[in-house]
Amino acid sequence: MDGIYLLLGSNLGDKRETINQAIKSINSFAPVITKSYIYETAAWGKMDQPSFYNQVILVNSNLNPEDFLQRLQQIEIALGRQRFEKWGERTIDIDILYFGNSLIKLENLSVPHPEIQNRRFTLVPMNEIAPDFVHPIFQTTQAKLLDDCKDNLQVTKTEWK
Ligand code: ADP
Ligand code: MG
Repeated sequence: MDGIYLLLGSNLGDKRETINQAIKSINSFAPVITKSYIYETAAWGKMDQPSFYNQVILVNSNLNPEDFLQRLQQIEIALGRQRFEKWGERTIDIDILYFGNSLIKLENLSVPHPEIQNRRFTLVPMNEIAPDFVHPIFQTTQAKLLDDCKDNLQVTKTEWK
């Protein structure tokens, strides 16, 4: 059984409700063990769009990574994700941060997610629930990654889980 860390993000429509719906769907095939709070961040990459809500969850699954990703993409589609442009607005984005300690480099799947260390909006919720989890490539904790992160976009904790 692998412990899988996922990052959910939304910046369009009812962001909180969409993230909750996504978690419900994920929980139906991969039990949710832990959830961070939802955090709010100014849009990354492109500034002229609404703020993002982000949340990290830990789930368990026996699925292989490719099948697991496919299930996530089905949920993204079901929740009305539209792809306008890279880094553009989206109703829901679900990224695999870590899949146990697996190192995966496929055409459509890189794990650990290659941008974790560069994004405060990922590291802050990750640190809330798993500060001691060791990055399987860098061999450093999430706490250290956050400490070293150069991203200065402000990440604000909301009152919602
Ligand atoms: P982004 O998440 O970078 O904003 P998308 O969600 O549109 O962009 O994802 C683009 C592609 O990234 C997906 O088609 C997926 O196959 C691929 N991908 C690679 N690694 C991962 C990962 N760790 N988690 C989720 N998707 C990934
Ligand atoms: Mg994605």
